[in-house]
Amino acid sequence: MPELVQHWIDGAYTPGVSTRRGDVFQPATGVLARQVVLAEQSDVDLAVASSLKASADWAESSLSTRVRILFAFRQLVDAHRDELAALITAEHGKVLSDAAGEVQRGLEVVEFACGIPQLLKGEHSDQVSRGIDAYSIRQPLGVVAGITPFNFPVMVPMWMFPLAIACGNTFVLKPSDRDPSASLRLAELFSEAGLPPGVLNVLHGDAVAVNVLLDHPDVAGASFVGSTPIAKHVYARGTAAGKRVQALGGAKNHMVVLPDADIAGAADAAVSAGYGSAGERCMAISVVVAVGDTADRLVPAIAERTRVLITGPGTTESSQMGPVVTATARDRIVSAVDAGEAAGATLVVDGRGFSPENHSDGFWVGPTLFDHVTPDMSVYTEEIFGPVLVVVRVPTFDAALELVNSNPYGNGTAIFTGDGLAAREYQRRVTVGMVGINVPIPVPMAYYSFGGWKDSLFGDTHVHGAEGVHFYTRGKAVTARWPRQAHGVDLGFPTA
Ligand code: NAD
Repeated sequence: MPELVQHWIDGAYTPGVSTRRGDVFQPATGVLARQVVLAEQSDVDLAVASSLKASADWAESSLSTRVRILFAFRQLVDAHRDELAALITAEHGKVLSDAAGEVQRGLEVVEFACGIPQLLKGEHSDQVSRGIDAYSIRQPLGVVAGITPFNFPVMVPMWMFPLAIACGNTFVLKPSDRDPSASLRLAELFSEAGLPPGVLNVLHGDAVAVNVLLDHPDVAGASFVGSTPIAKHVYARGTAAGKRVQALGGAKNHMVVLPDADIAGAADAAVSAGYGSAGERCMAISVVVAVGDTADRLVPAIAERTRVLITGPGTTESSQMGPVVTATARDRIVSAVDAGEAAGATLVVDGRGFSPENHSDGFWVGPTLFDHVTPDMSVYTEEIFGPVLVVVRVPTFDAALELVNSNPYGNGTAIFTGDGLAAREYQRRVTVGMVGINVPIPVPMAYYSFGGWKDSLFGDTHVHGAEGVHFYTRGKAVTARWPRQAHGVDLGFPTA
């Protein structure tokens, strides 16, 4: 029997009452490595009750106490980077160096959260009227839920829970059931750092658990990251139940290359951002928009680099790209490539049918490159979420901008050019939330906020940074007077 991945509730492991199980594979070998418990309603109730119980005391904890625990957690994550990266690689498949990068970006949110005393400072106005002061404070929401995708099993949960907890909330994390183990190690480390039981619970499950969390009267807010159809559903259901919800969705990120760009640099960037993590990043470049005659020089340069990429197990040091997460993902990606070929796009590099030596049962798709793709083809319209890069040729800068702005997604985008004015024009006019100028994956640092526009975000608040603090707290404005004597009855509306 494969090992059973259990919930982490109230500072301890529990299998819960549900008998439903999900399969967790090792993508590089195709081996069924573990099974994960999938919560039923009563398991969710148990996790939420534990978080609710912990909530009153945690909201009362001093800022210094929270910071001390966050600093200790930061030290522990730092000390266990390699172990966390290994857990990610085992279940997700990405190469170890990429997994270590994910841990680092998660750690940076903890470091940001260590500054919570500064971040939670309110405003104060002395003497807004005679003898009256006004000030604002921000207070935690209570129990908050986080629902996260498979592709960043450490970083995306860490976009959420360190900051939510620093703000005085308690947190129920529902990670992806495809790679659930790393989140448990994070919960253990936070507990070792001194976090009281119940402040962070990890509940495993699927749509059943998510929907119970969204409807639950004791859950005050929800952060979601995943695909667009589920993000839409989570936003609608959670807000209908009266919660505040931020739901980050899918993406189709365009990289515009102008004729004056450094072609070698742009090709390096397109290959790195297109095939890193086998294209399973919400900020992956999936469309290269080649302006004017750029494609004639750029496509051969991308193809040359793509053909020599080393795809193999994430634990092999020479591997640059690992497998995709499941057999289902592999089959979906292969079908998308079939459809692109059938629609008449030029298949420059074909990754179908690839597998590295001795790993034929793993979930493999080699890096794949299409040229002469048009906006009506499904390889352009669908989020493929695999190692497939498509090139769309457009005549002008304006046509490139029009293409990007017409796309329903608006997560990330990049422009490659030596022309500062063109870059500035692009940055101002593009309807996308995160923009790179000669930077292909413009993931904001922890002290800025991360989020897209249009179908890449439902809700109005991005994650981490100042917007994260805002999301996990609610404001209160206080008007105070300490009178020496009674002022008498006055039925007029108060004015200063
Ligand atoms: P997914 O939408 O399938 O799953 C995300 C979460 O939702 C998981 O925890 C899953 O258990 C849960 N879920 C799945 N089906 C559900 C349903 N019917 N009802 C309620 N909950 C459900 O996404 P995924 O495949 O795990 O991750 C890949 C997707 O996430 C891609 O679309 C990618 O672009 C997106 N993503 C977006 C960002 C971003 O910041 N915008 C970041 C990472 C990933």
